[in-house]
Order: sequence, then C-alpha cells, then structure tokens
Amino acid sequence: MAFEYAPAPESRAIVDLAPSYGLFIDGEFTEAADGTVFKTVSPSTEEVLAEVARAGEADVERAVGAARKAFVKWSALPGAERGKYLFRIARILQERARELAVLESLDNGKPIRETRDIDLPLVAAHFFYYAGWADKLRHAGYGPDPRPLGVAAQIIPWNFPLLMLSWKIAPALATGNTVVLKPAETTPLSALFFADVCRQAGLPRGVVNILTGYGDAGAALVAHPDVDKVAFTGSTEVGRAIAREVAGSAKKVTLELGGKAANIVFDDAPIDQAVEGIVNGIFFNQGHVCCAGSRLLVQESVRDEVLDALKRRMATLRVGDPLDKNTDIGAINSAEQLARITALAEAGEQEGAERWAPPCELPSAGYWFPPTLFTGVTQAHRIAREEIFGPVLSVLTFRTPAEAVEKANNTPYGLSAGIWTEKGSRILSMASKLRAGVVWANTFNKFDPTSPFGGYKESGYGREGGRHGLEGYLSGAAEPVKERGERGGRSERGEGEGGRDR
Ligand code: NAP
Ligand code: MG
Repeated sequence: MAFEYAPAPESRAIVDLAPSYGLFIDGEFTEAADGTVFKTVSPSTEEVLAEVARAGEADVERAVGAARKAFVKWSALPGAERGKYLFRIARILQERARELAVLESLDNGKPIRETRDIDLPLVAAHFFYYAGWADKLRHAGYGPDPRPLGVAAQIIPWNFPLLMLSWKIAPALATGNTVVLKPAETTPLSALFFADVCRQAGLPRGVVNILTGYGDAGAALVAHPDVDKVAFTGSTEVGRAIAREVAGSAKKVTLELGGKAANIVFDDAPIDQAVEGIVNGIFFNQGHVCCAGSRLLVQESVRDEVLDALKRRMATLRVGDPLDKNTDIGAINSAEQLARITALAEAGEQEGAERWAPPCELPSAGYWFPPTLFTGVTQAHRIAREEIFGPVLSVLTFRTPAEAVEKANNTPYGLSAGIWTEKGSRILSMASKLRAGVVWANTFNKFDPTSPFGGYKESGYGREGGRHGLEGYLSGAAEPVKERGERGGRSERGEGEGGRDR
C-alpha cells in the first residue's frame, strides 16, 4: 500500500514576477522594435504568468550588432578574467537557486523536486566547470593557440530551459565568444532572469543577449550573416532546416536533436534497481527528455517479473502540482505537446499495442498525462519508432544480447542507451556495439558537466559538455583565419587577442 502524503507546497513568494518583460539587448531590457508581445502561462494551471516581448528581425539585427561590438573586448580579455565573470555568475546562480527553481517549475510545469535538486545544481556546475577552462584553453587539445569564433546564435527548447541555456552559454563565454540566445516560446522566463544574473555579475554589455520570441526569430538569427556559430537544441525537423540554411556558409554548427533510447534489462540485473532506472529513464521531467529511455528492452525470461514490479512502482508515482515537494510528475509543458503525446498514444492502441496506466487523478485545469506503458509493442509500431517526448514507455522483449543490440540500434536516432546487468564484460561489449552518444550502465539520466553529450545519426552532431564541448566554439590557430573585414579576424584583435589565455 502506498503512503499518503500531506501537501508540501513550496512558496512561490520568493519569485518576484513583473507583469511584463522586455528583450535583453546590449545590457538593457527593451521592448521589441515593433512592440509585439506574447503571454507565457503556467502549464499546471493555465494562469498567465507574464507578458514577454516578441523579437522580430529588427531586434535580431540589434542583438547581433551588440554581440559583435562586445566581441572585440570580450575576446581580448585574458582567459583568467573571463573565468572570473563565469565564477561570479555560477555563485549568483547558487545564491538565487531557490528563486530560479520555483520560477522554472512555474513556467515549465516540472516538479520542484527536480528543478531544486537537478536542474539548478547542474546549471551552476556548468558555469563553475567552464569557468575553470577559460584560462587553460591552450591545454585543451585544440591547438596551441585556439581562438573564439565570434558571435554565437544559440536556440534552445522548453524541456530544460535554464539547463540548456547553461550548456550553451557557459562554454561560449569561456572560449571568448559572445552570445545571442533565443529561449523557447513556452519557457522564456528563466532566461530573462538569467539576464538579470548577468547584470548582477557585472558582465560587460552585449556579451550575452536574450531574444524571447517564436521560431521566426530563431530562423532570422540563424540566417544572420554576422553570426559565426549556430548551436541548436530541439527537434530533428528544425535541426534539418537549420543545417540546410547554414550549408555553404562559414558558420560552425552543433545540433542536439531528438532520441528514442533503448533501456536494456538483462535477466541477471538487480530487478528493483532496474525498475528505479526504468522509472527515472522515462518519467523524469514528464518524459520531456531527448535522451529518455523510451523503449524498454527486457530479456524475455524476466519480462513478467520486471513488468509486475514496474507497474507496482508506477502506481506510487504522484502526479500533480509542480510546486509540491512530493510531486514526481508535473504538468505537460503545453497544450500542443499534450496533443502530440495523446495522438501517439492513440496510434499505439490502434496499431494493436496494449496500454496500461495506474489509476491516477489528474487536476482539472492545466495539461496532464498519466504515466503510461505499452506492452505487445513491435518494432514497426509508431510508438517504438517516433519520439513521444512524454511519460509513455514502449516495452519490447529480446532473447540474446545480439538481438538486444540489433533492436536498440534499429532507430534513426542515436542519443543514449541504458544497460542493466551484473556482468561488467557484458556492459563493455554492449556499450561498444550500441550506436549512441551516451551509454549508461546500471543507471540512467545521469548528467555531469565534465562528460560530453551528443548524438549519432539523426540525433545531431557535435558534443556539449566536458573538454569536447569547447571544440564547437574554437577555431585552432592552425586553421586559416576567416576574412571578416571590420568584424573579428585575427588582424584587428591585436596583441593579447581573442582566446589567448595566459
Ligand atoms: P523545436 O520546435 O525544434 O524548438 C526548439 C527551439 O527552436 C525553440 O526555441 C523554437 O522556438 C525554435 N525554432 C522553431 N522553429 C525554428 C526555426 N525554423 N529556426 C530556428 N529556430 C526555430 O522543438 P520543440 O518541439 O520545442 O521541442 C521538442 C523537441 O526538441 C523534441 O523533439 C526533442 O527531442 C528535442 N530536444 C532535443 C534535445 C537534445 O539535447 N538533443 C533536448 C531537448 C529537446 P519556439 O519555441 O518559438 O517554437
Ligand atoms: Mg510557460
């Protein structure tokens, strides 16, 4: 029997929300040039949280101009000086962690337990980690005199708004680039609060610019001729459009796209631990996770045992108010995403898979989906092939390790995978055969700023995190220097120039 929990709401009084917010350009909050705004809502209540400026082409122009101007001085700073700013930002993020955690839960719908214990600690850790690299770039393995690229256009999704911001901004600044970042339209607020953190840290004007808005602002940013680097996290579809747009230009690109990871449970795995890992793999962050373990591959001989334990565990998951500290599963981020999850789950039933969810009372307002699993899934089913990006698990079985590898790799994606077994040799042999950027063994969804993250195939290219995450923001001194006239290029940086740390 499950324990009853009394409500344990986190107070939202710590967040001081203004009725409206502007774009952050050249160190100032400003209205959009054409005055357009949009509303951001709390997905758990549908309450409007604030009005936010919607960037258009003129604003993209201003922001890229500000970043270009700031690049000259920022890239000329000694690495140790840039590191000081990053350390300062990291400390302010820690000091304001509670405020930012509540804000993120409000705007995104994810449980406070996760924003407080996972998102915010990782956000600060990313800034601390890359702060440490800022004066050691010559020892990073990218040539004796690595240089920044210039202005980085960064576009992020709504599932980990502040964490994706930190994955993008921390390495860009450490390497001496300046940034124009566009958050997702459903989660603009934490990026705007981050702009305030930058001001608090005394970061020079124009080094970080934040453009809230829709996809068209993202597209204009990517297409801007004065952008040197594009870093995108989001759907494979938009990633493809971006790759087409920048093809043939000198822009450097990294793409972090979708996934359909296999979480593979062998018959010698400790079942209770594996069940915790399966639950964490697919129900963490409502399953809005690109590397979610959305396909469970379980060895046939332990299928029933695993499924029984998994169902028992799923029945104890608490779905509801993201600000309640007991909540395991919060709200789906938007009505649009809920419709996508609902449609794919219906397709699963229509194609003959069997659907199961524990009895679960959902709030009447807001966007919700119960933790769900499908059995009788074949590799041909849409729910086994397409990314659902929600709390929906597809269960398949296998008999031999070779069959597990074949099924795991039978996907256009290749972002992550999980292996559950007692045998170390099996872990190594499986990991070497799985075509996935990250392979977890006897754990899942573990993140660390020192560890590179990224995909194979349609999951994208380039790596974020770790030493590898520096590469996408540097050009080695051995490479020819780009001719950029007035803007960047080695010649006008003079002595003590960009990216040279001492
Ligand atoms: P999305 O539509 O690709 O949006 C991602 C970002 O791109 C948003 O800021 C979006 O703005 C912007 N955007 C939309 N159209 C654009 C265009 N033509 N040019 C430039 N930017 C554009 O993705 P989503 O549906 O919001 O997010 C879910 C998807 O992201 C899932 O498929 C998931 O797999 C993927 N994802 C991948 C990772 C990873 O690390 N690999 C992490 C998280 C999510 P708007 O918000 O205004 O549309
Ligand atoms: Mg929102």
